[in-house]
Amino acid sequence: MPEQLNPAQQQLRNEARAFAASVDAEASAANVRSASQAAGFFTMTQPAEFGGAQASVLELTIVRDELSAAGMPHANAVFGPGPGVLAGVKEPLRSAYLHPLMAGGKRAAFAFTEPDDAPHPTRAAREGDWLIVNGAKSYVTGGADAHFMNTLVHIEDEGPALVVIDTDAKGVSMDRRFASLDGSHHAAFSFTDARVPAANIIGQPGEGLPRAMRQIGDTRLAIAANCAGTMRWVATFLETHLDGKDRAGKRRGDKEGVRLRYADLRIAAFAARSMVYRTARLADSGANVVNEGIACKVFATEHLQNSVDTAIGLVGGNALVESHPLAVLYRTVRSLRLAEGANDVLRLNLVRGALELNKGVL
Ligand SMILES: Cc1cc2nc3c(=O)[nH]c(=O)nc-3n(C[C@H](O)[C@H](O)[C@H](O)COP(=O)(O)OP(=O)(O)OC[C@H]3O[C@@H](n4cnc5c(N)ncnc54)[C@H](O)[C@@H]3O)c2cc1C
Repeated sequence: MPEQLNPAQQQLRNEARAFAASVDAEASAANVRSASQAAGFFTMTQPAEFGGAQASVLELTIVRDELSAAGMPHANAVFGPGPGVLAGVKEPLRSAYLHPLMAGGKRAAFAFTEPDDAPHPTRAAREGDWLIVNGAKSYVTGGADAHFMNTLVHIEDEGPALVVIDTDAKGVSMDRRFASLDGSHHAAFSFTDARVPAANIIGQPGEGLPRAMRQIGDTRLAIAANCAGTMRWVATFLETHLDGKDRAGKRRGDKEGVRLRYADLRIAAFAARSMVYRTARLADSGANVVNEGIACKVFATEHLQNSVDTAIGLVGGNALVESHPLAVLYRTVRSLRLAEGANDVLRLNLVRGALELNKGVL
């Protein structure tokens, strides 16, 4: 729980709070990035061998929780690029991709999701030292600005692999750019006999899914920590509103029906926060937290969505003015129930983990 932090972790929490409070509400993403670099948060996601602070899962959770609870703008610009699925790669990927990624010279994207109407998963055949890749990926966040994509490809007779594919390689085409409801940007790509060096396979063929799932698992926990913090932000935002007077001159928060809704919101925020801190500790202990990560992501995204909806109901029509923070949040949170796995699909995975695979402590 957040109450059981050691002195260094408490200090980190206080520094994160102070940092969030120091960022101007109108700051741009670039302003937030440089402020984060100066304050030392930027390198928390980066390995020590690249000069990073290589923070633990709990430390990252603390910072995410606090930044989100403060409702700071562009919180996603606070952390620098992590190695993701490229962690620990050997040459030539290390010099050609991992180094430039850590130094900020190259941007990466993650290409996993296939189009609904794909006739077959993205696949590759070997031709000497090359892979000949055919297929498509439908939802690549940041794909239009990325230099390369870590792409899940099924290699004939060898199995799924993550393969680094340059976005400007011959045979790779960006078919569509689009923005989703939350304001983030994505691209769809197709591969037509794209020639990719076989040396661009990350790890071994056959390892693609577990590697991809590790990254997806980390991102689910990050989403849950952000949601837990944001739920606290919603509750605090609402407190100010409930302290005010209604048209009849009565304190809004005195109505029992309003208090019941507010209690639900606080209970959910408490539960979500408890879950993410406990799961972060488990992850740092080396435990398999696939099921717990799923539980955190499903619970936190759904309860945040409910909290925002409740808060809008309690504030009234003003909360639906497009620029109102709750209206902005309402648009942002919907995507989180789909991103990194649709919540119902995750529920089914969780049941499989519990009933068939005996994984996790959940
Ligand atoms: C903001 C955002 C960013 C994203 N970024 C990336 C990215 O960078 N890279 C990437 O590869 N992908 C990305 N995605 C795609 C994302 O991973 C997928 O949208 C998500 O995994 C769901 O897959 P899908 O869209 O194909 O929906 P589907 O899996 O087709 O699911 C559609 C619906 O069917 C339901 N459903 C499906 N199967 C079952 C079942 N067996 N039982 C019951 N219900 C079921 C689901 O619950 C859901 O409601 C992103 C998505 C979003 C929203």
